[in-house]
Amino acid sequence: MDVEPIAELVLPVGAECGEGPVWHDGALWFVDIERHRLYRFDPVSNANEHWDAGQRIGVAVPASDGRWMVGLEDCAGLWDPASGELERICAPEADFPRNRFNDGKCDPRGRFYAGTMSLDLEEGRGALYRIDADGSCRTMLEQVTISNGLAWNAALETVYYIDTGTRRVDAFRWDAETGAISERRTVYEFESGNAGVPDGMCIDVTGKLWVALWGGSGVVCVDPAAGAIVHRISVPTEHITSCCFGGASFEDLYITSARQGLSAEALERQPQAGGVFRACPGVAGLPCDLFALG
Ligand code: CA
Repeated sequence: MDVEPIAELVLPVGAECGEGPVWHDGALWFVDIERHRLYRFDPVSNANEHWDAGQRIGVAVPASDGRWMVGLEDCAGLWDPASGELERICAPEADFPRNRFNDGKCDPRGRFYAGTMSLDLEEGRGALYRIDADGSCRTMLEQVTISNGLAWNAALETVYYIDTGTRRVDAFRWDAETGAISERRTVYEFESGNAGVPDGMCIDVTGKLWVALWGGSGVVCVDPAAGAIVHRISVPTEHITSCCFGGASFEDLYITSARQGLSAEALERQPQAGGVFRACPGVAGLPCDLFALG
């Protein structure tokens, strides 16, 4: 077997919970949920800027008008980081003050899907929502524990989804016209033990899934057709949260990580925890889909 590639640290940002990387406008954007920040990192100049969202920011996806669709603690909405102005769109869990938005993504038709989780990691307390261009918000799934990775296939027939609480990557039939999901099935189930649990995810041009492993010090490539792990990239810290393809030709895999949940002793051993890493797995990904405003 080949030697497992090791991702290199490109930004020692020490995020408490680095998440939601997206390549947009020639730079890598990501959030630090616990520090309430959206970052923009230019890996060519090494410039790194950030904006404060004022509360936990679980996800930020670029919108077609230059703003960002964000999932926060108490609502989802359109945010202009420069002015700080937030247009609240919906607050589907106003009755659950211990919940917050977590991971999300736009589908190839520009609808925004984002899920929630309980700050206390209460089982089945979260949900997956969808916000359309007209601002309507609907519940797509209930009984979710930690809503995480989302990815659509190139044929626009399938959406892959991770609820970390299930330890699975699942697939749904996805209707491009209506955005509806149905026929849930499992494409890969991670064993219990110390190898980590699936967190954020992205898809490459060959239809394989790159899945970040929280507690697993790596990213694995799952072939959903074979139901098997076909590659693994090692990352020199434990809590790997998400990944996306970026760079000029979308061949760089950017990987986020977290300091959260590591003991003082573990942090001592893992000085790169919370950093942003990069690997070159030899396959390209796709640009992120923007939130399409009506
Ligand atoms: Ca996550």
